[in-house]
Amino acid sequence: MELEPLRDGHGRLIGDLRVSVTDRCNFRCQYCMPAEGLPWLERREILSFEEIARLVALFSAMGVRDLRLTGGEPLVRRGFPQLVRMLSDIEDVAEVSVTTNGFLLERDAAALVQAGMSRFNVSIDSLQGDRFYELTRRDALPQVLRGLEVLASFPEAHPIKVNAVAIREFTEEEVLPFAEFARRTPYEVRFIEYMPLDADHAWTPEQVLTGEEIRAAITAVYPLEPEPREPHATARVYRFADGHGRIGFINPVSEPFCGDCNRIRLTADGRLRTCLFSLNETDLREPLRAGADDSELEQIIRDAVWRKELKHHVGEPGFIQPARSMSAIGG
Ligand code: SAM
Ligand code: SF4
Repeated sequence: MELEPLRDGHGRLIGDLRVSVTDRCNFRCQYCMPAEGLPWLERREILSFEEIARLVALFSAMGVRDLRLTGGEPLVRRGFPQLVRMLSDIEDVAEVSVTTNGFLLERDAAALVQAGMSRFNVSIDSLQGDRFYELTRRDALPQVLRGLEVLASFPEAHPIKVNAVAIREFTEEEVLPFAEFARRTPYEVRFIEYMPLDADHAWTPEQVLTGEEIRAAITAVYPLEPEPREPHATARVYRFADGHGRIGFINPVSEPFCGDCNRIRLTADGRLRTCLFSLNETDLREPLRAGADDSELEQIIRDAVWRKELKHHVGEPGFIQPARSMSAIGG
């Protein structure tokens, strides 16, 4: 099935869909969730595997090629590898990838690779156990590193990315250890600027440790050279000048990349979001469950995508943080 490409009102072609498969998580990262967790969605509120697969097939017929599964923590959704298999079997889906905190990778890496997962991003914010615990509120660094090692034993899983959120007065101490980690392992480490999507609404602009500050600190010790920028890439990637490893910077706050944004998101309860910072969302679950056919769903999706926000307004006067925090959106 081949449909007209999906385009927004600013002429951007949509090629990337992030699907949150659960709002639940086994961590409580300070920049994302409150210590006590959030009121979880009920099971019946969450899209079934069949519902997700039907929507993904429709999106892929409209030109969405890259599919990233996220959450909450996607690996806590029961039967997750089975969903991966269903989605990677859909014609036109070029790549199924996942963002995970890595806690269950030791258990699931083999099943996920076998099910057709082609890319893995593992989130690790500190390489020191006590600081990892401070940020995630889980004493889980050794478990995550073991999972990463199991994952790395599968050649098909490479290249593997390790993502760290960059927060002022925390991450400075992590910068050189992560640079050294990127140099001695096969992983590409990427720093992501802290965004105002935390459930506690504690974010302030001063807490954003910018990618440029981190790059400068690294290059002073280990000189870096820029890699060419790929279309729609969110990360600015550098290689170490001596050829040992790569490191990337995702700078949504200090250097927004909205002009080039080709992505949309589907929440675990079936709401379509056209921007991380959207204040409105479009319910796809209700029409789906009411028996809408593909052409009706297609029209609802096209209308929503047409209204995709031109840019986010983080750091501008009057910026309003969305009601959903990162784990409920699907980052
Ligand atoms: N639980 C999985 C994980 O942590 O990788 C997937 C979901 S998590 C919401 C996706 C990514 O969003 C993670 O890399 C996480 O570090 C990042 N993230 C969460 N809150 C953030 C925030 N306020 N600013 C920047 N990145 C954030
Ligand atoms: Fe969970 Fe990921 Fe949010 Fe951490 S960042 S609380 S691991 S969803």
